[in-house]
Amino acid sequence: MRNDFESNYADIRERTARAALRRGEDPAKIHIVAVSKTVGIDAVAEAYDCGVRDFGENRVRELLSKQEALPAARWHLIGHLQTNKVKDVIGKAWLIHSLDRWDLAEYIEKKAAAEEISVPMLLQVNVSGEASKGGLSPADVEPFLKSIGQMRWVKVMGLMTMAPEEDDPEKTRPVFKELRSLFDVINGHNYPNVQMRFLSMGMTQDFEIAIEEGANIIRVGRALFGPRL
Ligand SMILES: *Cc1c(COP(=O)(O)O)cnc(C)c1O
Repeated sequence: MRNDFESNYADIRERTARAALRRGEDPAKIHIVAVSKTVGIDAVAEAYDCGVRDFGENRVRELLSKQEALPAARWHLIGHLQTNKVKDVIGKAWLIHSLDRWDLAEYIEKKAAAEEISVPMLLQVNVSGEASKGGLSPADVEPFLKSIGQMRWVKVMGLMTMAPEEDDPEKTRPVFKELRSLFDVINGHNYPNVQMRFLSMGMTQDFEIAIEEGANIIRVGRALFGPRL
């Protein structure tokens, strides 16, 4: 008999594939990041056994301890990064989704240069303008990315956003649409040191809409692991 995770994962993959096809996108191009924050290591190991290779954590310490237990997976930092945690996480996280301010980029550049390691990151954009959410406003993204060209070790690989929580997920569509169009505009500029490879948007309640609007990374927690305690 199939356990919960296995059937949840099969369901998410199927819904992901259907949403990709509605956009005319190859389902294999959509990366599912299983958000395992607060989830115990046994459940994470079970997910790995079911084929999950990408896991998302919003705290550095939790990411590092789970990575130690499961080093073969790719670990994504999806939460706010404080400068005092930078030295611990660079070279460890496969992708940091939460570059949200210039002084963080400068700080990472300095620490990464000392260790000579590249740090792949996504620029977090606050499309909706909610005060509770981190990220640059869309108007600040292009000037920020132009300046990133001066850096050598910080590598911007795409954009990330968190949509507002809505009772009707359809209401988030304009947020995803706006970020996708910014992604395409930036992609046309070829800024040095900036690649638009990943567009990280969509969570449990709105990932299908995000995929329809062009996400190629979704970050799904509760729909895979169940409600968080
Ligand atoms: C918790 C979290 C998610 C996953 O949310 P679910 O509703 O559990 O799918 C995605 N992205 C970020 C940044 C998160 O903090």
